[in-house]
Amino acid sequence: MCPEDNAAWFARALEVIPGGVDSPVRSFASVGGTPFTVARGEGPYVVDVEGRRYVDLVQSYGAVLLGHAHPEVVRAVADAAASGSSFGMPTRGEVVLAEDICARVPGCERVRLTSSGTEAAMSVLRLARGVTGRPRVVKFDGCYHGHADALLAGGGSGVATLGLPGSAGVPPGAVADTLVVPYNQVPELDDSVACVIVEPVAANMSLVPPAPGFLAGLRAACDRAGALLVFDEVITGFRLGPGGATEWSGVTPDLWCFGKVIGGGLPVGAFGGRAELTAALAPNGPVYQAGTLSGNPLATAAGHAVLTRVDREAYGQLTARAARFAAGLGQALNGAGLGATVATVGPLVGLLVGGPGEPPGPATNLEEVRAAVASGGYRALFHAMLRRGVVLPPGPYEVLFPGLAHDDRLLDQVVEVAAAAAAEVVAGWP
Ligand SMILES: *Cc1c(COP(=O)(O)O)cnc(C)c1O
Repeated sequence: MCPEDNAAWFARALEVIPGGVDSPVRSFASVGGTPFTVARGEGPYVVDVEGRRYVDLVQSYGAVLLGHAHPEVVRAVADAAASGSSFGMPTRGEVVLAEDICARVPGCERVRLTSSGTEAAMSVLRLARGVTGRPRVVKFDGCYHGHADALLAGGGSGVATLGLPGSAGVPPGAVADTLVVPYNQVPELDDSVACVIVEPVAANMSLVPPAPGFLAGLRAACDRAGALLVFDEVITGFRLGPGGATEWSGVTPDLWCFGKVIGGGLPVGAFGGRAELTAALAPNGPVYQAGTLSGNPLATAAGHAVLTRVDREAYGQLTARAARFAAGLGQALNGAGLGATVATVGPLVGLLVGGPGEPPGPATNLEEVRAAVASGGYRALFHAMLRRGVVLPPGPYEVLFPGLAHDDRLLDQVVEVAAAAAAEVVAGWP
């Protein structure tokens, strides 16, 4: 039995996969309804099992930069697969991808590849703690660094608080050395802090740019306290430009995490930094870190195909399209009477939807994002757009990922759809 409709596939999924999904946001839990099941992707589109085609602004949450099934990526993966998919031995592909990364990110001298961004962030913490011999980690409320225990901590509002477990199954001890502080405020650090980890442009609480001086302030605070600064560039890396947020901000951290774009849609992460720091990793040093599938030949081939294809001009073009799209989207939504604020940093687009009326102010931290999200406007807009063939991320805290496969013409169509969808939302507002 092979039912070719979305509801039947999801019902089948529920029988064998907890909640029907392998990552919670996919379930539509925060927007309501039943997710469609993807059969395939084509550039800027996804096609569901019923044959319905949608303009896709999720793009695997940023893992896909060139659009789905890009021929060069497909060829690179197929060629790699034909030579064997995993060896547990050194391969050329991992060397080439590590070279790609180190050549583009100023100050990053060595990287070790992992299979996900979560692993990269988890490993970078161990490295920072191992190098400094200090226990504490400072993270920012609303920044996401994957689902390692120590980083699954949420904080109270407004003030620095000791981390509270952000999930059942995370014992208080696992986050006892995680301090959670508000984004865009430089915290006081002492000599118990191993590292400060930050999304240099926050892209997991809608889009929150760093305030002027924030990243430089973190750099200075870390230097004063002898703590390491970690940029989690899993989203911003190779998306804001070849040198990611490091180049964009002019602030150089000590350590980095990467993921998403560098795998070209296959499972990859990476972490690294100055050679003097990464020397602490096994086999040279005392910090253990490993992975059977790390540096996987298929994933490194896909990542290399993407990184060699996007030059500065491509990033410039993508940024220009995102700016034009964001301006159009903001006008369309507000013009239809739905208060919305559309933020951009380079190609990243953040959509904050309020209710009918005035747009929410641009957010500078999680509290402000939460206040806008509470209106429920995003959820209504999500479904009104989905019915019209456009998939936004199924949650108000995610950003939109127009990529190189979305041209101006297509994004203009999305803007037209948004105007109609917003009018429907306003007309049906409770
Ligand atoms: C997605 C993400 C991660 C986690 O990466 P996974 O590959 O999902 O494990 C970590 N940090 C940031 C900033 C991310 O956006």
